Parts: sequence; C-alpha cells; structure tokens
Amino acid sequence: MYQRIKYDFAQELSKIKSSGLYKEERTILSEQKPNIRVEYPAGSAPRDVLNFCANNYLGLANHPKIIEAARKALDEHGFGMASVRFICGTQDLHKTLERKIAEFFQTEDTILYSSCFDANGGLFETLLGVEDAVVTDALNHASIIDGIRLCKAKRFIYDHADMASLEKALKKAREGVDVWDGPGLDKEPVPARNIMIITDGVFSMDGDIADIRRIVELGNTYDTLVVVDDSHGTGVLGQTGRGSVEEAGMLGRVDVITSTLGKAMGGATGGFITGRREIIEILRQKSRPYLFSNTVAPVIVAAGIAAFDLLAQGQELREKLRENTAYFRNRMKALGFDIIDGVHPIVPVLFRTFENDAKLAQQTARELYAEGIYVVGFVYPVVPKGQSRIRVQVSAAHTREQLDQALRAFEKVGQKLGVI
Ligand SMILES: *Cc1c(COP(=O)(O)O)cnc(C)c1O
Repeated sequence: MYQRIKYDFAQELSKIKSSGLYKEERTILSEQKPNIRVEYPAGSAPRDVLNFCANNYLGLANHPKIIEAARKALDEHGFGMASVRFICGTQDLHKTLERKIAEFFQTEDTILYSSCFDANGGLFETLLGVEDAVVTDALNHASIIDGIRLCKAKRFIYDHADMASLEKALKKAREGVDVWDGPGLDKEPVPARNIMIITDGVFSMDGDIADIRRIVELGNTYDTLVVVDDSHGTGVLGQTGRGSVEEAGMLGRVDVITSTLGKAMGGATGGFITGRREIIEILRQKSRPYLFSNTVAPVIVAAGIAAFDLLAQGQELREKLRENTAYFRNRMKALGFDIIDGVHPIVPVLFRTFENDAKLAQQTARELYAEGIYVVGFVYPVVPKGQSRIRVQVSAAHTREQLDQALRAFEKVGQKLGVI
C-alpha cells in the first residue's frame, strides 16, 4: 500500500527541489551565539562562522544569567509537570512570570502558551464567533493566518500597512456587507457584532513596523478590539524594550499583545498573550492550546522570568543592539547596498535593480558563507518577485569586530558579483 502513496510524496518532494524551495538544515555544533561552529554540507569538516540570521536580538540565548536561572529551576522545580495548567500544571513560577509580563507591558493579566504559534492558534476561535469580524494585515504571520482559519468570524484582509485599506475593511465589517457570504449561508448581511484588528508589530521580511498609533485610532473610531503580535518587537523596540506598542506610545491603548519567549527573550520556546483581564480569563477557560497542551516547562518559565528581569534592570543590551543596528545599517548603505530603511535589527539587503535578483541573492548568500558569514537568501515565493533578499539580523551580542568582519565580507562579495 505505502508503495503507491510513497510515489505521491516523492513526486511532491522532487517538485519542491526542482522549484528551488527545498530547505536544507545546517547542523550547528556549538551553542547559539554570534560565533558558531557549523557542519555544512552534512559530513564536511565543521567550520567556524559568524551567525547573522538568528532572532537572538539581545544575545540571551546563552546568557549566563538565563542559564543560571534555568539550572536553579531544574534543581528546585524539576524538569516536567506532566500536566496541563488547569489540572496540576501550575507552579508558583508560572504565576510569577505571568505577573511579571503583565507588569512589563502595563496590562491587566497574562496567559502563557507553549509558543506564540499556539497563542495565536488559541486566540481567535476563543474570542470571535460567526457573528464577528477579524480584520488582518495581508502580511501577518503564518500563525495568525492559521489561528484565523480556526475561527468562524468573517475575515477581512487589508493591504499590507495600508491604513486607507484598513479603514475600508473596517467600514465593510461595520456595514455588514458580505458578513454572511460563506457557502451555504444565505442570511441577510448584518453588521458584525465585534470586530478585531490584528497586526504584526514588526513584519519579519522587511523589518517594518506597524503604524500602531493609527491602528488604535481607527480601532477607536470603529469600536474594535486591537491586537498586536509583537514577536519581533518584544525586548527590541521602544525606550525600554516593551516593543512596537511602546515605540508608538500606545502602551495601555492596545487590548491584547501576543508575543514569544523564543526570540529576544531567551530564544528557547514559550509564548504569551497579555492584555485585558476578561479576555485573559476567557482564554484560560476556553483556549484550546492552553487547555489541551502541556504546561510550559519550569526551566523555560524561570529563564523567562530572568529575561524580563534583565530587561527591567537596565537598557544596556537594548542600547547595544540599537548601536549595532545603526552602525551596520549605515555602513551597508555607505557601501552601496540596497537596504530597506528602518530601525529594526532585521536588515533586508535587496537586489531590486538587477534582473536576476533571485540568483544574485542566493549566490551572494553562498559566497558570504564561504567568507564565514552565515546569512540566508529569501527568494520568490517566500517574498514577492523582484524582492529577493538576504535578511541580516543584528544582535547585541555581536562585537564591533564581528560586525566589521561581516561588512568586509559583504563588500568583497558585493564587488565580486557586481552588486555594489
Ligand atoms: C516567530 C513568530 C511567531 C511564532 O513564535 P513561536 O513562539 O516561535 O511559535 C508568531 N508570530 C510572529 C509575528 C512571529 O514572528
């Protein structure tokens, strides 16, 4: 039996390969940090390279304080809980982290999830029903798209970062036009009961930041909930690392923030939703990934507490990150690279003026790797045609010498390939 089915899967795999979309995994033999040891291709001699593609924005992935907190938790709280939260999976640690996150974001309460992917998977279905509407940015993260798929609310997609398009969608939702246009539903259009606007705080491909101030304004005008997924913003943006919402001066004005512990905040796993008291309470009662998936491990929770403590104690790491980002962005521009302007440590290097941009992006990434710089090229269909890029991610843990080493490699490869 499997012989026939195997043929189908093999066909699919070869299609992925022939379209250039096959994702190879490189094996890292060291801990996650700026200078890593990598075995690639498989079986070759390991090489030391500089890592410029991790979401390790604050360098907490192997920070001594985080590791110490995790070790201590292992000793004092054990390894696993073998339970979901509401049966016997809630330790003092979980409550402490939830309280700390709420304090940090100046919200009323917080609920932990195994990941932000799970948080988004459990958010929409719990809060929105068939009589509601969700208005979502066209470039929102896959976990938001999937979370919305699980709920019955009418979906309105607005053009990426286009506030006029958002307003149009809100008007439509308010008027109720097409609210009932699903197959088999022939009811009269009625105005949506509740509307939710959902946006990424930072969009991962361009490193651009949502116009949260305007989104909150529109939310007020059209009487909606406003939700921001700030996975790439938490710990990175804002005066004190409270993310894109702080950067916009909108702390306390956004109803719900979802985010991850898997990027700047230690980089292991874990996610959370923080916001209005009643919303968090309903999620605890009804959100399926929370109810039916295991509690977050004590080690992860303790490390999360340490990460938020580190951020609350001082701005050194974030200042360093900001400094490194500005330095790298300015130097890349001076070298003549086509980068998307911004302030985020995601620095997209584009090849827009070249016809063969996809090939150039991939070749540049390959040659950079040969020079000891680990970056990844993104081409169509991961990004739009003509928008092929290398996405560089800067960290507070990069030293000036490491940044300079990367810049020298970019200069050398860029000149060789005629990019600059
Ligand atoms: C990375 C990311 C996620 C997923 O976070 P995990 O905790 O790794 O599941 C969700 N949303 C956005 C916007 C992200 O960038």
